[in-house]
Amino acid sequence: MAVEIQFRREFSFEYGRLERVAPGIRRIVARNPGPFTFRGTGTYVVGDGEVAVIDPGPDLDEHVAALLAGLAGEQITHILITHTHRDHSPAAAAVKAASGATTWGFGPHAGGRRGDPAVEEGGDWDFAPDVRVRDGDSIAGKGWRFEAVHTPGHTSNHLCFALPESGVLFSGDHVMGWSTSVIAPPDGDMSAYMASLDKLLGRRDAVYWPTHGPAIPEPQDHVRAFIAHRREREAGILECLDAGAERVEAIVDKLYLGLEPGLRRAAGRSVHAHLLDLAARGIVDSDRPATIEAHYRRVRR
Ligand SMILES: [Zn+2]
Repeated sequence: MAVEIQFRREFSFEYGRLERVAPGIRRIVARNPGPFTFRGTGTYVVGDGEVAVIDPGPDLDEHVAALLAGLAGEQITHILITHTHRDHSPAAAAVKAASGATTWGFGPHAGGRRGDPAVEEGGDWDFAPDVRVRDGDSIAGKGWRFEAVHTPGHTSNHLCFALPESGVLFSGDHVMGWSTSVIAPPDGDMSAYMASLDKLLGRRDAVYWPTHGPAIPEPQDHVRAFIAHRREREAGILECLDAGAERVEAIVDKLYLGLEPGLRRAAGRSVHAHLLDLAARGIVDSDRPATIEAHYRRVRR
């Protein structure tokens, strides 16, 4: 039985407009739609008067201008960054320059090197937070208080931000309603991602607001479906290995029927992420260092 994920793709918004989406929460969507960003980056504003901005978004002048215009007469005191992909953090520089706000994030982009071929939106190597945030840290402003939840996997520096009083979790790209997350090594790590999904299952958040797409009102069911989906994919990869497909390319051919050519590289990176996780657990090994080019096989015991 294939795992069914109830994707949520119904999304009403208007580009360039800061709109109230819940009590104390506003959102403006950047005009950077794409295969990994859905309709675009959702920049959240929390509070009224003295506010926090979560993920100011890509380096798009019109987006920054619309955000600042929407907040005319208010003060941005905090800029929170879920992770350093180019659709999330680059606009922090312009928003900080305009407001004097401090930036908060886990740390600079890590894993790989500047200029590596990018899947998804690529890393923002220019961002470094003013304040380095760790798991469980509290970030408080006027009328709101966040708890940081370190959720490595999509990137090693990924954070979710909870508002414990209202049961809200800003889930970044770790858990989205419209799609699964891209896990692309070396910065993406499947073992860490699965542990970060388990970590959310251990919490009691009532609703997730991801950076892309609409809110997720039954988040625990959604997280459970993602875990089941990855376990199913893992089983499929092991079947491919048993059937003689030993390389990432061959496994992608067998596993992803009807895949759009533009998503082929991302699929390969995802299969590679699973193979690295399986290797770390002693279930598969490879004929040479566990790169995307290696031959993999199941360990027989
Ligand atoms: Zn991302």
